[in-house]
Amino acid sequence: MAEEDLYDVLGVKKDASEAEIKRAYRKLAAKYHPDVNHEPGAEKKFKKINEAYETLSDDQKRAQYDQFGTTGSQAGGFGGQGGFGGFGQGGFSQGGFGDFSDIFGDIFGGGRARRDPSAPQQGRDLQYTMTLDFMDAVFGKETSIKYNRSAECHTCHGSGAKPGKSAHTCSTCHGQGYVLRQRQTMMGMMQSQEVCPTCGGKGQVIDPADQCDTCHGTGVTEEQHELKVKVPQGIDDGQQMRLQGQGEAGKNGGPYGDLYIVFRVTPSRDFKRDGSTIYVDQDISISQATLGDHVQAKTVHGDVDLKIPAGTQSETKFRLRGKGVPRVNGNGNGDEYVTVHVKTPKTLNKRQREAMLAFAAASGEDVKGVKAGFFDKLKDAFEDNK
Ligand code: ZN
Repeated sequence: MAEEDLYDVLGVKKDASEAEIKRAYRKLAAKYHPDVNHEPGAEKKFKKINEAYETLSDDQKRAQYDQFGTTGSQAGGFGGQGGFGGFGQGGFSQGGFGDFSDIFGDIFGGGRARRDPSAPQQGRDLQYTMTLDFMDAVFGKETSIKYNRSAECHTCHGSGAKPGKSAHTCSTCHGQGYVLRQRQTMMGMMQSQEVCPTCGGKGQVIDPADQCDTCHGTGVTEEQHELKVKVPQGIDDGQQMRLQGQGEAGKNGGPYGDLYIVFRVTPSRDFKRDGSTIYVDQDISISQATLGDHVQAKTVHGDVDLKIPAGTQSETKFRLRGKGVPRVNGNGNGDEYVTVHVKTPKTLNKRQREAMLAFAAASGEDVKGVKAGFFDKLKDAFEDNK
């Protein structure tokens, strides 16, 4: 089954602004919200709308979707997945729904409270920005990173209780995790479920005396997590890598979230890069351009011999096949293009000047020569400073 285009789901153009996307989402979500729309298929549609919005309202996920045509959730990424799974039981995940309560909080009086708070939830995804030197991005490297995250408590393994102790059913909500409340809304009287104030929705409570000393009953602790990372060769600025399960600890036994490493590549003085293609500039003299020569051209793989044929014009591009950046998928290297710039000498000594005049004469030209004036020198100085 072909994936429906997310922009089509929200009925917006590919270049829609954040505000346009939000507006389209509000309109559709209000129309298909299961509290107001009981038509068959409305719930499915509502879910789709939410999935589309979750991706398109997040700059990073939207960029990934635009680039790869996938949200990553098909591959089990992006946290929201676990949350939406609970929808059938009338639940909403916290993950990816940050905006939801902003939008519906007033209208529906607690969409968030309707989720099942005791259901396993995947932990939050984390993002780590890694700055790479130009050459490390080209050839990859192994490194290790450290970051803080919430992790399952090592003492109680997430239960929150002291060894030998356990939680008991909450007496306020009788294990439901929520309490019912009537409230007046602009759509009439509505009954809403709210998170139980005693157990916070877990349906279970641990007596203060039985709580784990390490995590104080929460089941999670903050840790500094160290991770070995193998940066693949050919990484480019702005690309990202997902490391499954390296995000934050889940709730109620849910799995860890993922870690997204976003790469920033520092530019090089010598090389310009576009994907796997490298561009370099090479200055050559009038004599080299006219007579031909061999020069050493810089490449990321080291200097290579570049043949300049006699009669080469300035700005000529030479291709060095396979001297570009290794492709991420391991499919060989890109190419390098060397653009030669023929440099006209700015000053000539006596011998050079005589040789030039002789060259002109031999070419049948009557070149008189003009001494550089004050303004020419000023212009020179200006160009040198560019
Ligand atoms: Zn603990």
